[in-house]
Amino acid sequence: MENTMKAARIHSLGSPLELENVPLPTLGDEDVLIEVKAVHVAQYHTAAMLRTEHSLNIYPPTFPAILGMGGAGNISQIGSNVNGFQEGERVVINPILTCGTCEYCMDNRPGLCDMWVLHGYYALYKPNGVPLLENYPGGFAQYVKVPARNVVRIHDNIPYEQAARFNYTGISYEALKNGGFRPGMTVLINGSTGVLGTEGVLLSLAMGAAKVIATGRNRERLAKIKELNPERVFTILLGEESIVPSIKEFTDGKGVHLYLDTMGSVAGQESPIQSVHDCLDGLKKGGTAVFIGSMQNHDVKYNYEYYIGNAIKIMGSVWYNNQSLSELVNMAAAGTLKLSNYDTKTFSLEHVNEAFDFADQRTGGLNNIIVKP
Ligand SMILES: [Zn+2]
Repeated sequence: MENTMKAARIHSLGSPLELENVPLPTLGDEDVLIEVKAVHVAQYHTAAMLRTEHSLNIYPPTFPAILGMGGAGNISQIGSNVNGFQEGERVVINPILTCGTCEYCMDNRPGLCDMWVLHGYYALYKPNGVPLLENYPGGFAQYVKVPARNVVRIHDNIPYEQAARFNYTGISYEALKNGGFRPGMTVLINGSTGVLGTEGVLLSLAMGAAKVIATGRNRERLAKIKELNPERVFTILLGEESIVPSIKEFTDGKGVHLYLDTMGSVAGQESPIQSVHDCLDGLKKGGTAVFIGSMQNHDVKYNYEYYIGNAIKIMGSVWYNNQSLSELVNMAAAGTLKLSNYDTKTFSLEHVNEAFDFADQRTGGLNNIIVKP
């Protein structure tokens, strides 16, 4: 193996990535080195990574830095203390880097660790995890090192391009699990045409929801969500159709069991926070709302007694653990989670900036934007 590799590095906030030769990562005893085959770029990554238009406080690593969240590939080298993996195995990365030893890490809830940070991205909320970011550069490179505890094996029938997308599928999956999803439920997905929303619809269908009610702001993209399963998916076009009456119509007046909010604010558009309030009003008695969208600058107001009398639960969910990632891999391998619904667009590492430009067009969650080093 050569001592250098190609990597796309960012030199300052707002500047395009530059393709350069850099040293191969130095492997720690608990790490694995992965030959990168695919890295997913989410719709908002251009705004968040290159322009730092993020609703959260972010703390980048020291520049120049290699971005690229997670990814999928083959293990090419293992650290001296790694026992559970072998060279050549196909794996996907769970991008959440953590301390590994706090009470939340030990409880398999990595998103609550004080150091948590997303590999190949920036630290959010607080700078505690920046040293982890700097020790583990991102996936826009021929090789990437991550702790062995951050990888999960993938079956031979799962393409790398689709496995790389699990970095976001996992968020929606964990949220549905945390919200107490059960087969036969009616699930409401607010913001269904974005990446997390589309995953919420695909997962709810895969896991046996009786009905999925999907909201969206874009008529064409919402029609594509309906096409995923015309018998079980019911849509509400925001701005033209009213949320609560539509939910009542689709549920015989009862409301939904589980409401997954994936809504995000889009620069230049009116805030969609009213849709969140309306969706809360669409919950059935005993129903649960789970928030995973990006409306951090808004308050959710509610009537105290209403939530007692109707036993309504509202909760947040943050990231996912390897057990959930393994379950996703198994669903995809078995074909219950239909990854073939994605329209995958691939870009070489040389064209990584074009991938960001394409992502910036926000063409909808069914597009799977992949960089292949
Ligand atoms: Zn921890």
